[in-house]
Amino acid sequence: MTKAYQCIHCGMIEYSGETPKNVDCKMAALHQWHQIAIMGTSIYECSRCFAKVKAEKLPNFPSCPEGGEHSWHHLGEIGPNRFECRRCNDIVMTDKYPQDSPCPLKGPHAWEKV
Ligand SMILES: [Zn+2]
Ligand SMILES: [Zn+2]
Ligand SMILES: [Zn+2]
Repeated sequence: MTKAYQCIHCGMIEYSGETPKNVDCKMAALHQWHQIAIMGTSIYECSRCFAKVKAEKLPNFPSCPEGGEHSWHHLGEIGPNRFECRRCNDIVMTDKYPQDSPCPLKGPHAWEKV
């Protein structure tokens, strides 16, 4: 079973069957991985650290790298359509127009099909 891990220091997401190697963290000497989800086809984004994760259901929310807990928002299901936010230039691939969720540049993401 593939799981999603996030490093509490640098926020990086890795998908792996077991805890990833802890070398080469850019924010600390070693990555410190937390398992946050079972990998799935739903895309969630945290409105604090803006990590995106492919999960089967709402990811866990211990320890957001930005402090406190993650605040996950469901963007949609993985799909063939590419959407770009006009504000922050974030890109997601979903089956239909992504759901409203907070943009790092204030307000909601402004998704446009590209
Ligand atoms: Zn790290
Ligand atoms: Zn977060
Ligand atoms: Zn945005």
